[in-house]
This record gives sequence, C-alpha cells and structure tokens, in this order.
Amino acid sequence: MALSHSLGFPRIGRDRELKKALEAHWKGELDEAGLRAVGQRLRAEHWQLQKDAGIDLLPVGDFAWYDQVLGHSLAFGVIPERFRPAAGKPTLDTLFAMARGAVASTNGCCGGAHAQELTKWFDTNYHYLVPEFSADQAFALSWEQLFEEVAEAHALGHSVKPVLIGPLTYLWLGKAKGDEFDKLELLERLLPVYGEIFQRLAEQGVEWVQIDEPILVLDLPQAWKNAFERAYNLIQREPCRKLIATYFGGLEDNLGLAANLPVDGLHIDLVRAPDQYPTILDRLPAYKVLSLGVVNGRNVWRCDLEKALDVLRHAHERLGERLWVAPSCSLLHCPVDLAREDQLDAELKGWLAFAVQKCEEVALLGKALEAPQDAGVQAALAASREVQAARAASTRIHKPEVQARLAATRARHAQRQSPFAERIGKQRERLQVPVLPTTTIGSFPQTAAIRLARQSFRQGKLSLADYTEAMHSEIRHAVQVQERLGLDVLVHGEAERNDMVEYFAEQLDGYAFTRFGWVQSYGSRCVKPAVIVGDLSRPRAMTLEWIQYAQSLTDKVMKGMLTGPVTMLMWSFAREDVPREVQARQLALAIRDEVVDLETAGIKVIQIDEAAFREGLPLRQAAWQGYLDWATEAFRLSASGVRDETQIHTHMCYSEFNDVIDSIAAMDADVITIETSRSDMELLAAFERFAYPNEIGPGVYDIHSPRVPDSAEMAALLRKAARRIPLERLWVNPDCGLKTRGWPETEAALVNMVAAARQLRAEL
Ligand code: GLN
Ligand code: ZN
Repeated sequence: MALSHSLGFPRIGRDRELKKALEAHWKGELDEAGLRAVGQRLRAEHWQLQKDAGIDLLPVGDFAWYDQVLGHSLAFGVIPERFRPAAGKPTLDTLFAMARGAVASTNGCCGGAHAQELTKWFDTNYHYLVPEFSADQAFALSWEQLFEEVAEAHALGHSVKPVLIGPLTYLWLGKAKGDEFDKLELLERLLPVYGEIFQRLAEQGVEWVQIDEPILVLDLPQAWKNAFERAYNLIQREPCRKLIATYFGGLEDNLGLAANLPVDGLHIDLVRAPDQYPTILDRLPAYKVLSLGVVNGRNVWRCDLEKALDVLRHAHERLGERLWVAPSCSLLHCPVDLAREDQLDAELKGWLAFAVQKCEEVALLGKALEAPQDAGVQAALAASREVQAARAASTRIHKPEVQARLAATRARHAQRQSPFAERIGKQRERLQVPVLPTTTIGSFPQTAAIRLARQSFRQGKLSLADYTEAMHSEIRHAVQVQERLGLDVLVHGEAERNDMVEYFAEQLDGYAFTRFGWVQSYGSRCVKPAVIVGDLSRPRAMTLEWIQYAQSLTDKVMKGMLTGPVTMLMWSFAREDVPREVQARQLALAIRDEVVDLETAGIKVIQIDEAAFREGLPLRQAAWQGYLDWATEAFRLSASGVRDETQIHTHMCYSEFNDVIDSIAAMDADVITIETSRSDMELLAAFERFAYPNEIGPGVYDIHSPRVPDSAEMAALLRKAARRIPLERLWVNPDCGLKTRGWPETEAALVNMVAAARQLRAEL
C-alpha cells in the first residue's frame, strides 16, 4: 500500500479558535487550564479531520502555542538568560514571554525582558521566533509537550508520526549572541537531546519520526553539508525510524547528500521542484522510503490529480510499498477547511482546496495507486479532469483583452521618458520643495472610529454618503495636522484602507475573496490573503477620488498612494495556471492606469509601495536574477506611464539592500523611502557604495515603538545619512506608515522630525 501522510496541519483552527483563546488568555480572561483545554480539543479535532480525510499517518508536534521553532527552543532548553525561570522548568508563561516580551514579571519570570526576534520562515509569510544561542550554550530536554501530545493521540487510537525540526535546520535558523562564534560548534552539544527525544518516543511506541530539514533546499556552505553526515551518523544509532522532510524547493546540489543520509526515508517537494523526481530514483538507496509531495501545501488550488498520478504511478512501479504520498510541505501555510466557505460561488469553490481537502486529495492519490478501478477513485479523477478542463476554458478567468494588452507591451513601456538626471530638474522646478523635503510613508493612525466607520459601511449600517463624509473628515484632519506641522509633501492618510493589498485587490477584476481563508502569520496573528483567480485588470479608478479630495484641501503637494505589483502578488494567493511574472505584469498594467489617472488629475507625486519586493527573492541565489529582472520590470511598467515632471516614489520596509542594490537602482523610482532608523543608517552603505543615483528618504525614526525621539536624535541620524548620500538627494521621513500608532505620539514625533530637517537646512 502507498501510505498517505501529512507533514503538518494548521493549528489555528477553522474558526481561529486558537487565536481567540490565546488573546483571551493574554488579557487574563482565560486561565491556563482553559487555554490548554482549547489546545487539546483542537489537536483532537485536527487529527480526526485528517484521519477522516483518509490520511494513514498523522503528524504530532505540528501544534504550537505560538510557533513551532519556539516550541523547539523550549524543548531544547534554549532559553536566553533574561527569560530563565528562577527555579524549575520553563512554563507557558516563559514561552509567551519569549514570544511577546514581558512588561512585568509573571510568576517570578522575566520582568522587562524584550521578546525574541521574529523573522520569516523561508519564503513563506509565516514568521518564527529566532532562537538565541550563546557561545557557552547548553542544551537540555526541558519541555514535555511533544510526549504529552503523543500520549494524547495514542489515547485517541491514532497512528502518529511526531514531527521535529532537524538539528541542522534548527541551528541554521538561530542567531549567535554575544561573543562571535560559529553556530555549528553547538551541534555536538545539541545532538544528545535529540537522542533523548528519540528514546522517549520509542518508549511511547512511536515507529516513525519526521525530521524536517528544509535547509537542504538552500545553498549550504560546505561545513554545513559535512555536518549533515556527522549528525545523522550519530542520530541513526537512536531508536525510531526516521523520515527526513525537505520542502519549499529542490535539493539540487544537496540531492546526493540528502538521498544518502543514514535514515529510513526522505520526503521531497515535487510541487516546487518537479525536476528532481527522476534523478532521486537513481540516487535513493534501495532500503529507503521516498515520500513524494505532490499536493501543494502553499496555496488554495485543487490538485490536478491526473498529473500527480502520472509521477506517482511511475514511482509506485519502482518503489512499491516504499512510496509514500504527501502534501508538498506542512499545510500550515493554507487555510483550514473549504467547507466553511458559505459564500463562494459553486464554480470557484470547485476549483479550491484547503487543508482538509488537500488531505483528501493525498489519500485519494494513495488509493488510486492501489485500487485504480475503485468507483470512488474513478469518480474523483473524473471530477478533477473536469475541473482542470473547465478552468482552462473559463471565460471568467481568461480575458483576451488583458492578454492582448500584455502582448502589446514593449520594453519602452517599462521605461520613463528621460533618465533620472533630466527628470529630477523638472520635478524640483514643479514641486518647489526645500532641500531635505519632509514627508510621511502614507498611513496615519487607524483609530477605532475609522475602523468602526469602515465596518459599519461594509455591514450596510452606514450609507455611502455618510461613509464618504466620515473618511473626508479623517482626510481633512490629516491634512490640517500636516499643514500645521509644516510637512512639505502631504498624504491623505489611507483611512479608507483596511489593508494595503486587500484594498486594491477588492477593486481589481480577477481577484476573489474567502470568508474563512485565514493563515497563521505569527502567534495569534492571521492573514486572509486575497486569491488571484484570473487575468487581472482595473475596471475603474481606485484611489482617484480620495486623493483628489485631499489635494483640493491644500496648496501643498499631495502624494498619491498605491501598492506595487510585486507586493500585490507576494501577499496574495497566486494562480498556478499562469507564471507569476505574468500575474505581476497584469497587476503592473492595472496600477499603471491608476498612476496615469492620478497624473491627469494633477497629482504631482505618486508613491508605489513595494514592501514585499525583497522578500520575494527565491531561496536559491541562482534564481535571484530571474526574479529581480521581472520584479523590477513589473515595477517600472507600473510607474512609467507618466511625464518626466511627475515624481514617482517607492517605499520598502524590512529590507537589506546590499545584495540587490543594482535592482533597486533598476527600478528607477525618483525617490525611495526605506526603513533605516533601527540600523542607525547602516543600510545606506549599500546605496553609497553603489553610487545610487536617485533620491532617498532614510527613515529617521522607528514607527514600531511609541517612543518619541527628540529632534536632536533625528538630526544626528540625518547627519549620518548625509555622510553617505549627498544632502540634496535626501528626504526626511519616518521608517514606515503610521497606522499602528496613536495621534499624540505621531504628532509629537513629526514635530521633532520637521524641526530636525529645519535645523539641518539652517546649517547649510
Ligand atoms: N503606504 C503604506 C502605509 O503607510 C506602506 C506600508 C508598508 O510599507 N508596509 O501604511
Ligand atoms: Zn514600510
């Protein structure tokens, strides 16, 4: 039998029960016993859902109170000094303090300790808590959760496979703190804890353990490759059979290494990297299980079962019982249950699959190998064929006008009329702003009143006229404040926007929305990405009226505010029947139309945000240039419909620019605003070295904190910036949008920011 298994299931719950329980617990409205009961119920429910779907081997250890990497840090005793409990083992309070920081001490733990750093899990939008290692790091089994969960599952009669993050991946994800040292030196100290875990699991009667080593799909230094062999030579002596899981890409140069590690099985991602399939068969030792990830765990589309079966049938002939079937990666990255969607039309719903449905697909594929003539199998395959055919022919998603327009797009459309050196003179002439012009990144505080107005409007409780007036009044307020503070380039404040992607997605043709399609982003935070269903276009202007209204209130320059094509794509569920770059270009043309409309209406400065530009970089360096080429081109396509004298800004947060600076320059935005205050302007070094020619607004204060820096502090940062970038090409702005801040601290900080700019101008 070809065993079907799941690498991991979303833990948040189909109604985000875990989110709600966590937040109630943090507010003191739910005690620890109550929270634990919710966790236990969710685990039981999720095992049952997967089992009912037909999964043979269920994952345990994929549940986490906040984050699975943090769970491992607790298990291994990787608890930084500032969180270490005075006595005994860490508790749930320790875990939440590490995740969220601790204002006051709870139960004697960690008063005032700042949280661990949060960062993206590979190329997903999930964020994990970065383990902190010290040079004298010790490891000790310190958290019983995994064993408790195994016992729980066994008590329910399930056949389970605990999931562990492998030692190399765990070390790779962490950060060396204090004296500099090589994290790899910790490996020998860490391995005995794994040994202990395998022993304990074996005592519980566990047969298989899944060890996630996704770093095998990255470019690894030789020392790390060598360490894999060392580590697994030791691990192989421990009990339990071991399946190494790799995902999010192909093994490529690590394929031989991964295939030959002394363990009992290997999982590979055939959705992201189908090409590794035939090669792996030749390299895999004859005793090993091969798990093929053929159902995409990263999106919301139904699997093309026939296509998946082609590969599986071939593999089954060669491997027989040694073939396992699985999703490509943990289902953590897709929503829970499509059955919950009560407002999607039948056609679209028929094209989608969430975690529960993906488990059904995996099980069906496993069954199709054993019993191809089974009536249920036949019916499912026929339905899958029908879906594929209907989608391929659907006029709902294939739009000849959109495709024709894209086909007619030429290189010149992705190029401004004149080079920056010529444009900038015309822009300065027209804008009449002083040197070191001051501006903000777009959003102003999203107050409770704003959210209420938006919500009431959506629910039909507020008329369009009343809603518009409520938003106008917010815009008036924002404009008044900015004029009073003396900012040079104003913004309307984005009160009407729930989210910088969803707001635009809702107005474009080709997008669809789910009601319950939540995916965990970090901790209790979830996102509900919009779904790109078909060819994308802009039926009508999206922001024009708001920006025009804002401009009508002031003689100062009003900046139009848009989200760029790359960010729109990265933060949506993308199509899989069309390449990503095509979707980016379609988005680019839609945004381009908006840019041109804004220009025609007299808007002189337009910002196209590309917050997700850098995070779109592929995991493998060899693939970078291909991505950067289409991503920069898409941005330029969106920005280049305007005359020289219209100034295009872009904004990027959370970015390192060193290794992509030539592409940033290739975007050719007249002004780029970036987040720099926390790095003390260090990020400007890349721009300096490259002799970046266009203008830059390095953020002079951190908007993530309510702290209001004084003007001397900001002026000092500006002086630092001016040592790297000529003053006449610098702008003055905060690090990012202000939507998460309150008005008092926003005004106070902006007063100081304007004062800092004036001070520097006076020194000229
Ligand atoms: N214009 C957006 C804002 O100010 C930019 C947000 C972002 O870059 N994340 O909110
Ligand atoms: Zn930002």
